[in-house]
Amino acid sequence: MYDVIIIGAGVVGSLIARALSRYRLKILLLDKAWDVGEGTTKANTAIVHAGYDAKPGTLKAKLNVAGNALYDQVCGELDVDFERCGTYVVALSSEELPLLEELRARGRENGVPGLSILSAEEMFRREPALNPATKGALHAPGGGLVDPFGLCIGAAENAVLNGVELRLGTLVSGILRQGDEIGGVITPGGAIRARWTIIAAGLWADELMASAGLSGFHITPRKGEYFVLDKVAAEQVRSVLFPCPTPISKGILVTRTIHGNVLLGPNAADVDDKEDLRTTAAGLDEVLAGALKLVPSLDTRQVIRTFAGLRAAGSGGPVAGDFYIDIPAGTRGLLVLAGIESPGLTASPAIAEYVVDLLREAGLKLEERPDYNPQRRAIPRFSELSTAEREALIALDPRYGRVICRCETVTEGEIVAACHGPIPARTYDALKRRTRVGTGRCQGAFDLPRVLQIMSRELGVSPLELTKQGPGSPFLLRRTKEVQDGAV
Ligand SMILES: Cc1cc2nc3c(=O)[nH]c(=O)nc-3n(C[C@H](O)[C@H](O)[C@H](O)COP(=O)(O)OP(=O)(O)OC[C@H]3O[C@@H](n4cnc5c(N)ncnc54)[C@H](O)[C@@H]3O)c2cc1C
Repeated sequence: MYDVIIIGAGVVGSLIARALSRYRLKILLLDKAWDVGEGTTKANTAIVHAGYDAKPGTLKAKLNVAGNALYDQVCGELDVDFERCGTYVVALSSEELPLLEELRARGRENGVPGLSILSAEEMFRREPALNPATKGALHAPGGGLVDPFGLCIGAAENAVLNGVELRLGTLVSGILRQGDEIGGVITPGGAIRARWTIIAAGLWADELMASAGLSGFHITPRKGEYFVLDKVAAEQVRSVLFPCPTPISKGILVTRTIHGNVLLGPNAADVDDKEDLRTTAAGLDEVLAGALKLVPSLDTRQVIRTFAGLRAAGSGGPVAGDFYIDIPAGTRGLLVLAGIESPGLTASPAIAEYVVDLLREAGLKLEERPDYNPQRRAIPRFSELSTAEREALIALDPRYGRVICRCETVTEGEIVAACHGPIPARTYDALKRRTRVGTGRCQGAFDLPRVLQIMSRELGVSPLELTKQGPGSPFLLRRTKEVQDGAV
C-alpha cells in the first residue's frame, strides 16, 4: 500500500513526486515509457514563458507566473540549464501594434514584472536579422530558456534519491474504484493500491479519468512541428522571437535554444492519434513560412533535424481551455491534472506546489522528513568545463579524456556516468537527453556504433538488445555474418 501513486513521469509528475518526497510518504511514480520525460515533455519549445498570454484569473495565468518565478531556485537546486534571457513578441505591421499594448495590459493584470514595448530601432539593435518590416516588440525580461529534459530528469532523480520508487515500462490500464473511493491503479502486473492516486498522464489523462468514472473531459492532441538548426544559425538569433499570437497558439517562433541551436516552430494542427509524432511536408512548409516572416535570412541548409510534439489541449474544467487540476467532486483519493498544455512546462514547479497544497487541504498528513535533500547534481558536461576543470576530471577518470560525440564534445566518461545514474539511461534516447550525444550536426551518424558499444558494455546487455526508446525500436537486427551466411 502506497500513500501516493503518480501516473506519468513527465515534467509535471516528476516535479510532483519531488515536491512530495519532502514528506514522510511512500510514493510510487509510474510511467508506461522506458525513460522519464518521453511524452510531451521531450518535444516542446522549451521556453519559460513570462505569463502575459493566459487569460487573467485562470489557473494557467496564476501558475504560469508563479512557476516562472520558481525557475531560478528549482534549476539551481537540480543543476539544470536555465537562462532568463528575456522574450519578445514582434509586431510586423502597424495594425499589430495595439496587440502588443493588449498583451502588456494582460501581463500586468497577471502580475508579470518588467514588461515594456520597444521601438523597431531598438529591436534591430538587439536582433539585427529581424524582418525590416518590424514596427516594435513587447519585451518580457523574465522570460527564458530551459533544458526541459534536464528539468524532468533532474526532478525525477531527486525524487528517487529522496526515496520515491520509480517504475518505468509500466502501463496503467485502469483506476481502482469502489463507490466514491479510488484505491489505486491496475497494471498488467496486477493492481497496486494507494491512499491517493494522481493522474499526471498528459495526453492520456482523459482516458484515465473515464476509467475512474469521470466523463466529460476530452483531450485533443494538437500537433506542433519544428525545425532544429545547426549552432551556426545562432549568429542570427540571439533570443526568443514570437510573432503576435493567434487564438489557438502563440504562433510560429524563432528562438535560440539553451544549448545554442536555433528552433523554428511550432505550427498547430489538431490530430486524432495521441501517438502521431510524424512531421508532415505541409506542416513544415507552414513552419518555415512563419519563421521566415520573423527572420527572412534563415538558411534551410542549416536544418539538422525536424520533430513534432503534441499539446494535450483539454476541453477545460470550470473554465474552458484552462488547466484542470482538482480533486473531482464525488471521489475520494483521486487528484487529476488534465489539459496541461502550454505553458505547462513553465508552470510545472508551481503546479507541484499547488498539488501539495490541495492534498494537504484534503487531509493528507504531510510530515517533513529531516533527511530531505533538494539538491541533485547533473553529470559533468565536459564541453562546458574550463581547461583546468577538464584536466582535473581526466586525472580522476581518464574516460573523460576520450571524446565520443565530436559535434557536441561528449566523452566516454559522461556516457558511462549516464548509464549508472540514479535513473540509468537504458535507451539511446535516454542517453541523448542526459548527455547531448548525437544531438549535433551529424545527428549520431559518426558516433552511434561506438556509443552502442559503450552502452552494451556498461549495461551488460548485447548490442542487439539496445533500442532507441524501448521495446520495438531496435537499432541492430542481427549480426552481419548471419546475413552473409544466408541465415536471415
Ligand atoms: C508543440 C508544443 C510546444 C510547447 N511549448 C511550451 C513552451 O515553450 N513552454 C511551456 O511552458 N510549455 C510548452 N508546452 C507545453 C509543455 O510541453 C507541457 O505542458 C508539459 O510538457 C506537460 O508535461 P506533463 O508531465 O503533463 O505531460 P507529459 O510529458 O506528456 O507526461 C505524461 C506522462 O504520462 C505517461 N502516461 C500516459 N498515460 C499513461 C498510462 N496509462 N500509464 C502510465 N504512464 C502513462 C506518458 O508516457 C508520459 O510520460 C508545449 C507543448 C507542445 C506540444
